[in-house]
Amino acid sequence: MVEKSRTLVLTRGFVLGALLAVGALLTAVGAAQQTPSAASIQVDKVRDNLYVLRGGGPSGNTAAFITAKGVTLVDTKLPGWGRPILEKLKEITEKPVTTIINTHTHFDHVGGNPEFPATVEVVAHENTAALMKEMRPVTGGPAQPDVFKGGTGPGLPKRTFKDRLTLGTGPERIELRYFGRAHTGGDAWIIFPALRAMHTGDAFGTKIVPIIDANNGGSGVEYPKTLARAAALTNIDTLIGGHSATTLTMADLKTYGEFIGEFVQTVQAAKKAGKTIDDVVNTWKVSERFLKEGYVTPEAYEKLARQPMSARVRANAEVIWSETK
Ligand SMILES: [Zn+2]
Repeated sequence: MVEKSRTLVLTRGFVLGALLAVGALLTAVGAAQQTPSAASIQVDKVRDNLYVLRGGGPSGNTAAFITAKGVTLVDTKLPGWGRPILEKLKEITEKPVTTIINTHTHFDHVGGNPEFPATVEVVAHENTAALMKEMRPVTGGPAQPDVFKGGTGPGLPKRTFKDRLTLGTGPERIELRYFGRAHTGGDAWIIFPALRAMHTGDAFGTKIVPIIDANNGGSGVEYPKTLARAAALTNIDTLIGGHSATTLTMADLKTYGEFIGEFVQTVQAAKKAGKTIDDVVNTWKVSERFLKEGYVTPEAYEKLARQPMSARVRANAEVIWSETK
């Protein structure tokens, strides 16, 4: 009995610790860990039938696309936030959730999946579907909780795609695209063509140094190339970032690709010049150009993530270093 409750306490302590750490890593909002509740979710209307549900944790941004048959959600926040999302949706629509699209495998984006009815169809990129069964640790970050019970629990994707998938028709059409490795190895880009809007997941979370999660298939060298392919899309003018507090633009996406491209080049040049990862970490700074565009400064990053930005820069430099011959 004592042994049992002790295990429970340890497990809860571990999960909470992991939540705090990964939340701090993945988010740019950086609020303290919240108790799940509908009241803590903010609803922003992007279009008449497209909303962003912000907050929750710190969690990823959830999009809600209202169609005649029901609601398609993009991402479901941290574990425990699925039911609050359902409750909050009642303020917007009486329609049921029919579909969940997950942008990638991180648990601040897929954590609420198991709390939705089994009738809800879950869709993801094929690599993400495979990774969700494992919930591997995040590169440079902590372990992820086993949201899907080793790949046997509810809420896993049953429908997957490789390069593209179309859901719905006419004004309710949704396009899922894969442009290559970036934040993870299964980043889906979710386009609402009639609304000229796109959810970018954490491939473009917000204007901050990204996590390059090589352990979940992410790539530093491929990251800017992947963003350039996404930025070449036309007929889109509004972006919902994985963690951004406001909507973003295609110009922001292009700039973000250049921001990461510049970092990749810096790391590769250092390696070729016989320098070390320490040299990169000690000398790299967010360029003036990007600071002017509202990029998160090291000081702001430290406040949000409760760790120096150099820790993420080091993790990213190590990924790019190992990818560079
Ligand atoms: Zn992520």
